[in-house]
Amino acid sequence: MPQTRPHLPAFDRGLLRAVADGDARLTPEQSLTLLREMPLPELGFWADERCRALHGDAIRTYVIDRNINYTNVCTAKCTFCAFRRDGDEADAYVLPVEKVLQKIQELVDIGGTQILMQGGMHPDLPLGWYEELLGAIKQRFPQVHAHAFSPPEFIEFVRFFNPPGDTLEAKLRFVMERLHKAGLDSVPGGGGEIFAPSVRRKIGLGKCTGEEWLTVMRVAHSLGMNTSATMMFGHIEGFADRVHHMEQVRAWQDRSVADYAKDGGGRCMAFISWPFQRENTPLGRAKSWGDGEGDDLSQPFPGDVVAKLDGSGDKAAHPEFGRRVRMSGSTDYLRTQAVSRLHLDNVWSIGSSWVTMGPLVGQAGLRHGANDMGSVMMEENVVSSAGTTHCLNQAEICRLIRDAGFVPAQRDNRYDLLQVHDGPDSPDLRVTDWAQHRPRKLHVETKAADSKPVELTVGVKSTTA
Ligand code: SF4
Repeated sequence: MPQTRPHLPAFDRGLLRAVADGDARLTPEQSLTLLREMPLPELGFWADERCRALHGDAIRTYVIDRNINYTNVCTAKCTFCAFRRDGDEADAYVLPVEKVLQKIQELVDIGGTQILMQGGMHPDLPLGWYEELLGAIKQRFPQVHAHAFSPPEFIEFVRFFNPPGDTLEAKLRFVMERLHKAGLDSVPGGGGEIFAPSVRRKIGLGKCTGEEWLTVMRVAHSLGMNTSATMMFGHIEGFADRVHHMEQVRAWQDRSVADYAKDGGGRCMAFISWPFQRENTPLGRAKSWGDGEGDDLSQPFPGDVVAKLDGSGDKAAHPEFGRRVRMSGSTDYLRTQAVSRLHLDNVWSIGSSWVTMGPLVGQAGLRHGANDMGSVMMEENVVSSAGTTHCLNQAEICRLIRDAGFVPAQRDNRYDLLQVHDGPDSPDLRVTDWAQHRPRKLHVETKAADSKPVELTVGVKSTTA
């Protein structure tokens, strides 16, 4: 039998050339077609072209920062989370300020420039506790950039602190202004997951809505703080939900730039996406599509039946929606990242997610639209609680970037270059024995000993183990 060539849809290469050059914008419908149908090598090519137009051909970046999870006590019950604890569980903790400062000192000692500090959404810590924490950090380490508190935390802060204001925006502004004054420099995009309500209601119990998430970022921009955005996919959502999520980030960024840029406002600087990690999570116990009784792989995945590009998907459209997970692999990850580079024409950086995908897929991400390898990670507790264990040091990250054909450079939070590693002193070029630099286990358990009862100076009881 002669081989038949599989059907390849006709893509508008002229449009893609214009998108890559920054002269045209993809519609959500067009991005969905690319995500579903364009062969990966070509999708990667166009995302790389767009990346090169923005960031040049030579340099790809990384940052040295430290994740500090100041508490694992959380009022939300996200079904994909293995990190959270109730306040009365034996291994619930709140890090004392001194412990946080010690962690930052260790970061500074290795040339780090930023902390990524997030909870748990702890119901008993008052606003003053956060102000004191930020104040202590800025007093001891004025040079360290504080990238902290994701949008779901801010929404819970409004609930916990009951600040003055008639609208959510006004209440958020009150809290965020106080924390900004105390030392908060920018807001990370944690808790983005998938914005579509049908998905979010299933996977993020007790967490803010997509609109609330975006409102937090808008207020941050109005106060002059930059932000980032994230997306966690490969669970119950459909492809259209991913594109809807990207479209929301793009549309709200347009609004922020139009309303605040001329007055020194902030903006969303980066987009990072990664596939759901299932180990130790309630959602991970859902069956993969195809493994359930009656699953018919010739039929669409339930999430794709439900998903709508405008976010209006109705769970009733498929009886197994929310009970089956897609579980993305490397190809789906690279496709999604590539489409994010092409769709998000107003976001500067696309981060490659080696922490979840592993070093080599992360490296491949640099040829599929990503310009940044993210962080040399000293510590991470949330994703790693769900089974992720990849950990790279500075030399390894530099080597991955160089082997992908680029010059590695350390950046700061604003994506300004701090050190371009183009000489023989580069961290990777000084290594003589790579056996000493094997990727290591990432998960650093927070020991009970690290988590002494907190001295709360503003009148709230300690909630630590
Ligand atoms: S993902 Fe974050 S918000 Fe959700 S339960 Fe875990 S710690 Fe809480």
